Amino acid sequence: MTRIATGPLPTSIVGSLPKPSWLAQPETLWSPWALEGDALTEGRRDALRLTAHEQRLAGLDIVSDGEQTRQHFVTTFLEHLSGVDFARRETVRIRDRYDASVPTVVGAVAREKPVFVDDARFLRAQTAQPIKWALPGPMTMVDTLADRHYGSREKLAWEFAAILNQEARELEAAGVDVIQFDEPAFNVFFDEVRDWGVAALERAAEGLRAETVVHICYGYGIPANTEWKATLGSQWRQYEQTFPLLQASSIDTVSLECLHSRVPMELIELIRGKGVMVGAIDVASDAIESPEEVAETLRKVLDYVDAENLIPSTNCGMAPLRREVARGKLAALTAGAEIVRGELGAAR
Ligand code: ZN
Repeated sequence: MTRIATGPLPTSIVGSLPKPSWLAQPETLWSPWALEGDALTEGRRDALRLTAHEQRLAGLDIVSDGEQTRQHFVTTFLEHLSGVDFARRETVRIRDRYDASVPTVVGAVAREKPVFVDDARFLRAQTAQPIKWALPGPMTMVDTLADRHYGSREKLAWEFAAILNQEARELEAAGVDVIQFDEPAFNVFFDEVRDWGVAALERAAEGLRAETVVHICYGYGIPANTEWKATLGSQWRQYEQTFPLLQASSIDTVSLECLHSRVPMELIELIRGKGVMVGAIDVASDAIESPEEVAETLRKVLDYVDAENLIPSTNCGMAPLRREVARGKLAALTAGAEIVRGELGAAR
């Protein structure tokens, strides 16, 4: 078990932040790039500089890439693999929830060159603080494409797990301290999670010295997700099925949705001993939390998480928000964490 050394209640965001309008259309999820060629490469680097600076100003302890170099959390990774044909698109149902046009796996998948390693090295040079990089998880990758080659979600997941492991090892060598795998599919396909999902995730994280995180959420605040959440009833107990499996796994930390969700908080007890990135910021609302509201969420969670394992965080990514809203939420997160540190006698 690896947890990086930090002060008490280290703050960290889950993933994306809004991109500047000169890089991509604002307030739009999966927005296309506004630049191309060398200007795009330079623009993405400038956005990484900015995001590191803004997170530092907000007082975040673990600095993320804010997904400034990604258009989509899965497809940007797929774009770098052979065996995936982006010209051959099919419409598939993603996470059993919404239809999307996706690329097709037409042959053996392979990573012919590093995907994010240069970007990670660049982010590493921008800050002395610990840095976190996110990759898609194997099951969520399989669920975000059409497969005309393997004929088995499990087989393809194992291929992706091996590829992700290569990338993760190189990210670690580039100085990344925390490697996160985004697996929203773990909240949907429970039989697969049990049969091969957690094992494939462990394969993706195999041999890493970096802290490993799995992020499992109820998605961005887009209508398809909001409508799905409305069908889940008064208690969202999805984590009840996956947490015992993760508790027994080699993954160090679990990132979960909390504030304004209907997840019964006591389910967090199921992963006691793991690091827990708690969503104390609602990404589906423009309302900026008060520091006291963040602190209240963290206090309640401390009934189920030992303080040394608590990582105050967001529910999911913030890409579709206005930049000033995202900045306000970052500031609320760090101020709320500081209140609770004070109460624990752990103020810095
Ligand atoms: Zn998420």
